[in-house]
Amino acid sequence: MKRFSFVILAFLLISISIFAQKPQKLSSNNIFEKIQKLNFLGTALYIAAHPDDENTRLIAYLANHEKARMGYLSLTRGDGGQNLIGPEIRELLGVIRTQELLAARKIDGGHQFFTRANDFGYSKHPDETLAIWNKQKVLSDVVWAIRTFKPDVIINRFNHRTPGTTHGHHTASAMLSVAAFDLVGDKNKFKEQLKFTETWQPKRLFFNTSSWFYSNQAAFEKATKGKLTSFDVGVYYPLKGLSNNEVAAMASSQHLCQGFGRVTTRGSQKEYVTLLKGDKPKDKSDIFSGINTTWNRVNGGGEIGAILYEIEADFDFINPSKHLSKLIEAYTMIQKLENTHWRAIKEKQIKEIIVACAGLYLEASAESASGIPNAAIDVNFEVLNRSTTAIELISITSTIDTNTILKELDLETNKKVNFKETIILKTTEFSDPYWLRKKASLGMYSVSDQSLIGKPETPRPAKIHFNLMMNQVPIVITKNVVRRYAERDKGEIYEPFEILPKVTTKLKNKVLIFSNDIAKKVLVEVRAGADNVAGHVRLKVPITWGVSPKKIPFNINQKSDKQTVSFFVTPPKNQSEGTLKVIATSVGKKYKEELIEINYNHIPKQSVLSSSQAKIVRLNIKKVGNKIGYIKGAGDAVPESLRQIGYEVTLLNPTEINAVNLQRYDAIVLGIRAYNVVAELKFKQKYLLAYVEKGGNLVVQYNTNRGVDVAAPFSLQLSRDRVTDEFAEVRILEESHPVLNYPNKITPNDFENWVQERGLYFPDSWSKEYTPILSMNDTGESAKNGSLLIAKYGKGNYIYTGLSFFRELPAGVSGAYKLFANILAVGKEKAE
Ligand SMILES: [Zn+2]
Repeated sequence: MKRFSFVILAFLLISISIFAQKPQKLSSNNIFEKIQKLNFLGTALYIAAHPDDENTRLIAYLANHEKARMGYLSLTRGDGGQNLIGPEIRELLGVIRTQELLAARKIDGGHQFFTRANDFGYSKHPDETLAIWNKQKVLSDVVWAIRTFKPDVIINRFNHRTPGTTHGHHTASAMLSVAAFDLVGDKNKFKEQLKFTETWQPKRLFFNTSSWFYSNQAAFEKATKGKLTSFDVGVYYPLKGLSNNEVAAMASSQHLCQGFGRVTTRGSQKEYVTLLKGDKPKDKSDIFSGINTTWNRVNGGGEIGAILYEIEADFDFINPSKHLSKLIEAYTMIQKLENTHWRAIKEKQIKEIIVACAGLYLEASAESASGIPNAAIDVNFEVLNRSTTAIELISITSTIDTNTILKELDLETNKKVNFKETIILKTTEFSDPYWLRKKASLGMYSVSDQSLIGKPETPRPAKIHFNLMMNQVPIVITKNVVRRYAERDKGEIYEPFEILPKVTTKLKNKVLIFSNDIAKKVLVEVRAGADNVAGHVRLKVPITWGVSPKKIPFNINQKSDKQTVSFFVTPPKNQSEGTLKVIATSVGKKYKEELIEINYNHIPKQSVLSSSQAKIVRLNIKKVGNKIGYIKGAGDAVPESLRQIGYEVTLLNPTEINAVNLQRYDAIVLGIRAYNVVAELKFKQKYLLAYVEKGGNLVVQYNTNRGVDVAAPFSLQLSRDRVTDEFAEVRILEESHPVLNYPNKITPNDFENWVQERGLYFPDSWSKEYTPILSMNDTGESAKNGSLLIAKYGKGNYIYTGLSFFRELPAGVSGAYKLFANILAVGKEKAE
């Protein structure tokens, strides 16, 4: 489900505002829509596998047209995808994609949930997926999401009956949803959850089908005849001035790191669901048909509905504060509901409406963006009542400090009240993403606290309760502590307030490759999380490695300031791999974490903590040739990796590709997907091929096969062939070929410890000039021989490879380095 246009992407990167993080300030239209939602007591949950799988059209329609409580359960956080906007991959990409989903839900009005499943990369079959995930744990998390969110209706994005036709994660998401539907109501299943929640039985389970799943429209119509529930999701919302499809496009355009920015569309459009389980809806255009979604659904709801339906019918868009006394009356009745599930939901919703109707502005902004456990922070408060309703601020309490700050202030109409208070951060926990705190396995994140499982992000530890009296009724409004400030070129900025360690350290490189036994300088940046932090840093290396000096002192006066210290690390004489760890000590306490800040305009700033360490590799590697010209494609870290082993790598812009320039290099390498993304390459191909003809070495890394011409000197056909199993056996087809012998001897050992996959988009046919070097395949598939193809062209060599060097080299995989060094050296054997 990936379609993108770079033109649109570039536009969106500029136009999506940095104000996305600001607290929502509700207009009369927004308040009215919230009241409509307050008066709808029905819930739907959409289930798929990844961020960007979700059908935002359907989610937006159910949330905004039907007014349903809408959730999206994405089994994974999309850690295994590619990042089009920055260098973050794996779990850091998962952090970005989590926030992009939250940004999408802010627009389409849904809630967001996850499981502990780790997106380990492309999977061809759900059997493989469920073997790598812990099937029982992921199923438990799906059951947990259903039992806690309590949907009336569940909608699967994918078909559970067609394994092997799409990503294995997709089919697995549908299979687990189908299995969970039959378990959620059984009190003997996943019993441990029932300490925290109750069993629940949704009424219906649907599959969100589409002609897209069939070969053509006719096949779709035939297969689904008489079974469809369909609705027109192209509705127009005059209160927003937007079509549902425009809302949906804005939501899915939040998936920027996937290149999912898209143009908005308008007008009538059908969506289809087919019933998998439960009772058939009588009304074929309403998935909630026959389910009571009115206030009468809950005991004692009738009289609340009587008040709230009337407000909805007579809503005053000019002066919504007119409704405050009735809303407050309804609030007191909601508080008395026996049904704790709906009580909590409706209490939260009506409080938001009351605050908005009163034009009540409540903010707690810390003077600094972060604090450390048990430190005092100064917080600036702003309290403003913009209505004529009597409101008193009784006191302020906090989730993180046991003190009550008494205020007893009458909030006069439009008279702003500002004050500053000191709050103690009485906690031992940091505010970093909870699912990254323990070491993950390939398939699973490790989270033991049941109350955190499923949550999109770590609940903010520092919250402020504004204890108010409105019309003689006590109402508590809770706000996160934020950090609000201005930058002259960006305007007003809101950031989450973080709780972070007193000391964090950072290594510049996460993989250090030593291609000889000479010591390398290793820089460590030390960051202070508070004022006046002193101590020392040391590096821990494996026993055969050396490091000097033993430790280095640091002394930092100002919070957030940094000091860089340098060590020398000496590798052993022979091939060796290990981990280098940074340990800082301050006042007798050890600090082993790195702080990684992720800052993009379309999502709130993220502060991730991870172990401060690097992989260190001593390689026995020989190199021939030194000067490499690298033409950047979609973005990869291959140039830095090659520099680490001593190559002189020059990045070439397309404008610099000409006959004279190219002659300077021992080899020219094209970055991943270069022909897909660099439009100018097609005009420069003649120079590249002429360079090969004269004796040069051109290495082309993978391109995706859709609509691309790599203009190879001899024909080759790109395909979607890939080998996703990084352990798949690699068979050598041309043992005597120089690429396997010179200057390094390549053996099966060199294909051990590869990461994530072997390679992708291999050519599946080629002309006789090419020599295929390696053969490999995923279990149960035919041999794929196109991963590394070499053709003599003129005096030089043209090399096409779909092997995943862009993953293996940055991960410090020794064998991949040796093979790449040999690829660069092809044709240079006679030179010695
Ligand atoms: Zn997907």
